[in-house]
Amino acid sequence: MAALSLALNPDRLFPADPATRDLARALYATVAQLPIVSPHGHTDAQWYADDAPFPDASALFITPDHYVFRMLYSQGIRLEDLGIPRRDGAKVEQDARKIWRIFAAHYHLFRGTPTRIWLDHAFATVFGCTERLTAESADRTFDCINACLAQPAFRPRALFERFNIEVIATTESPLDPLDQHRKLRASGWKGRVITAYRPDPVVDPEFEGFRDNVLQFGALAREDTATWRGYLAAHRERRAYFKTMGATSTDHGHPTARTCDLPEGECQRLLDRALAGTATADEAEQFRGQMLTEMARMSIDDGLVMQIHPGSFRSHNPRVLRDFGRDKGADIPTSTDYVRGLKPLLDRYGNEHSLTVILFTLDETSYSRELAPLAGHYPILKLGPSWWFHDSPEGMLRFREQVTETAGFYNTVGFNDDTRAFMSIPARHDVARRIDCRFLATLVLEHKIGEDEAFELAPELAYGLAKRAYKL
Ligand SMILES: [Zn+2]
Repeated sequence: MAALSLALNPDRLFPADPATRDLARALYATVAQLPIVSPHGHTDAQWYADDAPFPDASALFITPDHYVFRMLYSQGIRLEDLGIPRRDGAKVEQDARKIWRIFAAHYHLFRGTPTRIWLDHAFATVFGCTERLTAESADRTFDCINACLAQPAFRPRALFERFNIEVIATTESPLDPLDQHRKLRASGWKGRVITAYRPDPVVDPEFEGFRDNVLQFGALAREDTATWRGYLAAHRERRAYFKTMGATSTDHGHPTARTCDLPEGECQRLLDRALAGTATADEAEQFRGQMLTEMARMSIDDGLVMQIHPGSFRSHNPRVLRDFGRDKGADIPTSTDYVRGLKPLLDRYGNEHSLTVILFTLDETSYSRELAPLAGHYPILKLGPSWWFHDSPEGMLRFREQVTETAGFYNTVGFNDDTRAFMSIPARHDVARRIDCRFLATLVLEHKIGEDEAFELAPELAYGLAKRAYKL
């Protein structure tokens, strides 16, 4: 059988209509080679600090990628057979080639998904594979990738440079001493890797080990975190430390967008109950909500840009949580109320000019009803790009179609890849650039904006807006 070709079509994701496609292609040509600005994501600072080779194709593409194994799991494949570690330490598949063969035999499941686009892009452009992945080509692709990974040109720093990454942000907990970032800075390597402050483990009373986390937090910051004032002082101290490791932003992954603005006595009472483990679900929610408002206050003082990523029902599947832990593809979006949820924070700080709060959503029904009207009015608010399940060609188009008429382009912040899958970074930025050029071309062909304006906007959407919004 003749091998199936993996060649990527240069017109992929552009509209089928020839006139719009020609303009999309011309716009894309002006942004395709721009450097990647990646202001929010979850790559591991240790990769850049140690610059050790990635182990093998399965450890690179399958075991760490919840997009990949959730789809395989949904079709009856056991996570153990994909080498996902169990919490009880029971035996899981260790043979990387066997894991790869299972993946390859089921690669058709990814037809029509962004995962397929990202993987094909990485196989073709990063590793130079020429065959489409199937059960039949599985071993050749596996060997091709592994042979590359053994070469110095495929180590993290070399790939970082080849991907033309101008700056990338990782995300760390306030409990992280940031040793990897320190090591990286001391190494003399010129790649710009910065941290971001993600305080969920110490602001969410329902987070695993909350009480111990807050005690450890106090020890790190040399503050008494059993008192509300000491607890806030510890945040200010850790934020300042994160800034010395390049942080320009904070990130908040709350179940809802609820914010609160409570008197100090009530805050102390909530902290007491959270530390005692006696907070009710609503009190935990109030505590998180109060902390968003406190973080906004601190951001006005220290300049860190705030990102709010609400609306994920984490670990929806209790059996997968029990056996495999968090972040195993069982997080499911819920509807999110921004209009009422954000009001206490906006009443207090919505008109500030020195504060930026970037809102993300997993609830697309909120785009035109809530998010675009909010960001089209409040000076502090901007809209993050389509996120997670909506980080896809259709999701990006829906985002532009539903928010632009009310919020414009300049209340959005360009693209961020939000990924831990290092090899997918160029693919994801490429998809965003293509879709934005497609959207701009449509506006021009429908005479909504001039062609000159589209050529001005394209690099803004690909590069300029992200750099400015995140102060990079
Ligand atoms: Zn994220």
